[in-house]
Amino acid sequence: MSTPNGVGKHLAKLDLDGHNLPPSPTPSSPSNGRRYAFATEVVHSKNGDQYNASSMPIYQSATFKGVPGQEYDYSRSGNPTRTHIERHLAGIMNANRALAVSSGMGACDVITRILRPGDEVVTGDDLYGGTNRLLMHLKTHGGVVVKHVDTTSIDAVKAALTDKTAMVLLETPTNPLIKIVDIAGISSAAHEANSACVVVVDNTMMSPALQKPLDLGADVSYESGTKYLCGHHDLMAGVIGVNDLALGEKFYSVINTTGCGLAPFDSWLLQRGVQTLDIRMERQQRNCMQIAEFLEERGFKVRYAGLKSHPQYALHNSQAKGAGAVLSFETGSIALSERIVESTNIFGISVSFGCVNSLISMPCRMSHASIDPETRKQRALPEDIIRLCVGIEDINDLIDDLKQALVRAGAVRITGDDFVALPNEAVEGETGTTTQVVDEP
Ligand SMILES: *Cc1c(COP(=O)(O)O)cnc(C)c1O
Repeated sequence: MSTPNGVGKHLAKLDLDGHNLPPSPTPSSPSNGRRYAFATEVVHSKNGDQYNASSMPIYQSATFKGVPGQEYDYSRSGNPTRTHIERHLAGIMNANRALAVSSGMGACDVITRILRPGDEVVTGDDLYGGTNRLLMHLKTHGGVVVKHVDTTSIDAVKAALTDKTAMVLLETPTNPLIKIVDIAGISSAAHEANSACVVVVDNTMMSPALQKPLDLGADVSYESGTKYLCGHHDLMAGVIGVNDLALGEKFYSVINTTGCGLAPFDSWLLQRGVQTLDIRMERQQRNCMQIAEFLEERGFKVRYAGLKSHPQYALHNSQAKGAGAVLSFETGSIALSERIVESTNIFGISVSFGCVNSLISMPCRMSHASIDPETRKQRALPEDIIRLCVGIEDINDLIDDLKQALVRAGAVRITGDDFVALPNEAVEGETGTTTQVVDEP
């Protein structure tokens, strides 16, 4: 802190240049001084670099020379580039402390390591495939009791809560069914059932630009930084945010012990990506809304929390600033969905989402393939469901691409210069209309 003599004593409490921020592994403290709007905070970060570098340097070093007790000694325990992104993330997540690890699943692993044999976990029935697999592992290897319930029903959650519920693990909106979970309602019910219960929210689908689970009463917010935070599909990362510093210390200890902290180069890339989060999300969400309306108007069953037809439209919009950029829709036929997915030109076939370019996938064949077909059926996951992850491209190009794919796949009936979805009965099994090819736009 370097306030010149005599410049207002009232400024003495403010860390004007950010140098007083403690380094990781000690807790980050981003909320000194005035807060700006999200769009401003996400762009600006202070790095305290000795040469005033505009971009935080990459400390590509495993070790730091010197005596024990200095800020950094070994990059598994702490690295200045990682500390930088962690502080920045804490600010935009409204967290007292943020931790950056090597993937979203790495974050989920760190969080669930606080569980002990006999502990109960209450979680959803439409979870990300990897989360499902990790919970299965904890069940078979760790003696943890996992209860999958329909988390859209607060009563179903309450019925599953006991004083042994050590963790409630939520995802909202779920993916690909876009089910909405009441974060505040479930958080208070869980804390009522067991005051030590840790409520964890996977915020990957929303990012801190749209939803801040800690503000809604959750104890932990984590997400895959591979998705919207990075925005370019060129790194893998996971981030964890907490307000309770003791809990943060437990997570830090796991990271330091297991060595999953985010590497310096990836920390730098994540910092670079996250600065455009707000503007990317704004554009992606706007495009997604238009595509959702386009599909719905033509008779497809569309799941997107931005549509008034979504059964939990009000709940979602009470806890999030927007509906995000992932939607799913059904065609009535697996074969038809496969042909649509194969017919798009701009929408690339890929798992994952959150990138600047648009993607299309069939979750049952790709991201959710690790959930066995029987379980998928139990959880009412339609095998024909198509997921669109909308990017920042020109909206007219995106809609034209979908139009030609729907027509080429035989998913629609042409009516004048527009078209409508075929009724579901008409498309059960093979439609035999693949020969109907139109010129590309
Ligand atoms: C991708 C994803 C994860 C896992 O993140 P990785 O970075 O791929 O390990 C967890 N939850 C959700 C909702 C995801 O989409």
